[in-house]
Amino acid sequence: MSNKQHTYDAIVIGSGISGGWAAKEFTEKGLKTLVLERGRDVKHLIDYPTTNKYPYEFEHRGELTLAIRKENPVVSKCYAFREDAMHFFVKDKEHPYVQEKPFDWIRGYQVGGKSLLWARQTQRWSDLDFEGPLRDDFAVDWPIRYKDLAAWYTYVEQFAGISGNKDGLPQLPDGDFLPAFPLNAVEDYFKKTVSEKYEGRHVISARCAHLSQPRQVHFDQGRGKCQNRNLCQRGCPFGGYFSSNASTLPWAAKTGNLTLKPFSVVESIIYDEKLGKASGVRVVDANTKEVTEYFAKVIFVNAAAINTNLILLNSTSSRFPDGLGNDSGVLGKYVAFHNYSARISAEYEGLKEFTTDGRNPSDGGYIPRFRNLLKQETDFKRGYAAGFSAYRAPERDMSGIGTDLKEQLLHKNLGPWQVGSHMMGETIPKESNYVKLDKDKKDEWGIPLLRISIDYDENDAKMKKDYLEQLTGMFTEAGFKNIKANDAGQAPGLDIHEMGGARMGHDPKTSVLNKWNQLHDCKNVFVTDGACMTSTSTQNPSLTYMALTARAVDYAVRSMKKGEL
Ligand SMILES: Cc1cc2nc3c(=O)[nH]c(=O)nc-3n(C[C@H](O)[C@H](O)[C@H](O)COP(=O)(O)OP(=O)(O)OC[C@H]3O[C@@H](n4cnc5c(N)ncnc54)[C@H](O)[C@@H]3O)c2cc1C
Ligand code: SF4
Repeated sequence: MSNKQHTYDAIVIGSGISGGWAAKEFTEKGLKTLVLERGRDVKHLIDYPTTNKYPYEFEHRGELTLAIRKENPVVSKCYAFREDAMHFFVKDKEHPYVQEKPFDWIRGYQVGGKSLLWARQTQRWSDLDFEGPLRDDFAVDWPIRYKDLAAWYTYVEQFAGISGNKDGLPQLPDGDFLPAFPLNAVEDYFKKTVSEKYEGRHVISARCAHLSQPRQVHFDQGRGKCQNRNLCQRGCPFGGYFSSNASTLPWAAKTGNLTLKPFSVVESIIYDEKLGKASGVRVVDANTKEVTEYFAKVIFVNAAAINTNLILLNSTSSRFPDGLGNDSGVLGKYVAFHNYSARISAEYEGLKEFTTDGRNPSDGGYIPRFRNLLKQETDFKRGYAAGFSAYRAPERDMSGIGTDLKEQLLHKNLGPWQVGSHMMGETIPKESNYVKLDKDKKDEWGIPLLRISIDYDENDAKMKKDYLEQLTGMFTEAGFKNIKANDAGQAPGLDIHEMGGARMGHDPKTSVLNKWNQLHDCKNVFVTDGACMTSTSTQNPSLTYMALTARAVDYAVRSMKKGEL
């Protein structure tokens, strides 16, 4: 095929949460857009093989066999890697990487990426996050503030559909929400206890990307109201939660401007020395290994944080011997993540006249960050948010045999309330937390393996201790009993919120991207997935990737019209 046939206006690498948004925005603005995805196609509704299965239809009733666990020591640690959804996860042997230090890298290589698997928790970041590095003296200053993103948050929330309450908290800006999923009796009780006994601490309904009450724009996407099935990781037959597959990609396809190519592994970005910018990408066919080049005026890298680092590091030329846009030498460094390694559980004997009323796909309650908000009050930097949920499990009498046993099993006695919380800590990006290319080892497609060297530090340990102490105190105040504080001691990675490596900043000497997510040193390449993040906040990151992506596409298209790219 000639170059002409391989030429588009825009190329987007990756079709997950951020790539889906880039595709939607470019195609809506009339640009012929090529989305390159290394994994297979997953068509909404059609390719969700387990979505309507009953538990008894699974060979292992939804559980993992010992053999699968043994074969997948990394991915099987993820709570969602179970019989009903494991086909959406990368298996350990399929895509190896080198762990200089233990790192559980959880991936989803398919059209839609991890948007099919995510837990859909969606909170805006605030200026406490964007001003954080400057105020608390770490990393580099973010080149943007909340005001730069506020309208874009609204824009993506309206299309994706985010449920939540307007809670009026400075650390968690309100958005344009659909109705929140209500808290149950014990979650509500804990909320009241905390607000009475702790100034500045709050328990709110978790905000999540579910259509609690769809608007016309959601029906126009072919999506419907969430049915509270809580089987989201199988793919939702109602389009009840936001995924690229249910939302942005079909929307982009409807414009007639989208070309989506699954099984297309992007090996590198091609830099044209004469033009002084990128001209296209080099792609290896996942099945045939055939190499093809595609060309475009603008390239968005949305392969998910760590893979985006890999692609940029592997895009070498005489102008950029250490990776595209890496004049600063910081590409691949200052990788950061969240710290989800602690949790607390307990029981509550009260409120037994209530049960959990149906299922709540939002995860229950959310405790926004309350540590070091207005002033430094602890011996660690930054803070943590936390989840909080309560449920009543059935207590089954398994004694007897035959008819007696059957009757006992049918009689559903609910036990006391079980309550739980998990920590969502901010980590501090450091130069010593890095990813780089292995010099010798390559994957099946001839691409260098990634070496990952990432670890928690003393700040994380102190923060975790504080979380366990504070939440134990809050649980005690609420009269919860049998409190068990658990330091899971897990390696980084399982929070699945890896960020950084190509951070945004003011100064090209210390950062890779400018305030528009554009490579300082190669203006027609943009990075709008987690790789761009200068710091990590405590909030879940994906809503911010969506907002940054829509904003960057808008800027890129305006720049193209002015002939600047
Ligand atoms: C179980 C689970 C729960 C989560 N819960 C939450 C949550 O509650 N809230 C939240 O904000 N986030 C959550 N996340 C994280 C969230 O899924 C990610 O932040 C988000 O998907 C990142 O979007 P992305 O576009 O950067 O990457 P992805 O969605 O991972 O998409 C990247 C895509 O790029 C493709 N790709 C990679 N390399 C190449 C290449 N070389 N060539 C071509 N294509 C390539 C991949 O196959 C993939 O399809 C969760 C994740 C998991 C797995
Ligand atoms: S809880 Fe809602 S979004 Fe999840 S699978 Fe059920 S209907 Fe779909």
